Amino acid sequence: MPKRINATKRLEKDFAVIELCRRRGVRRVSFSARPGRRVRMTFPVRMSMAECERVALEIEPKLRKAVDMVERETDSHIRVSGFDDRREALKAAEYLRKRTAELAERHRFTYSRIFIRNQRSRWGSCSSAGNINLNIRLAKLPVELSDYVILHELVHTIEPNHGPKFHELLASVYKDSPRLRAELRGYIPV
Ligand SMILES: [Zn+2]
Repeated sequence: MPKRINATKRLEKDFAVIELCRRRGVRRVSFSARPGRRVRMTFPVRMSMAECERVALEIEPKLRKAVDMVERETDSHIRVSGFDDRREALKAAEYLRKRTAELAERHRFTYSRIFIRNQRSRWGSCSSAGNINLNIRLAKLPVELSDYVILHELVHTIEPNHGPKFHELLASVYKDSPRLRAELRGYIPV
């Protein structure tokens, strides 16, 4: 067997850059997520790089979660919380319902029902039954971004998946959607 030495390899993933470090004196596999979507994984030197990569692949969901958590903690994001005041919340929900109806009418989309939810994870979703769910925190975003999310969900009433047809249709109702998508990533519901 060849003598194993310290070695490092970078894996470029869609959610992070993972640094695989094989180190002498390391006894077990460990990892830490760092700001800027970086992960450092440390392995015992006896493992081959191929084995290290396989382990990284196996625990990818875990890595992804850790990266997202660090991203939430760094202040490059604007954190958007829910409403403390019930009246404000009702006003926000009312606004989102009205705005969705307006945008649907303008662009000839139809949806079954609309639910305004108070949630931490996502901005919106659309069910196969054509129901639209919107996060109430959208009302705190710049209008162009909340419009973008609403239109995104309205397009899902026609195209359930994010395929080329979906993006084509979204671009036809909202010109600048790649820029808005990037901008939206700067805000996180907490
Ligand atoms: Zn979508």
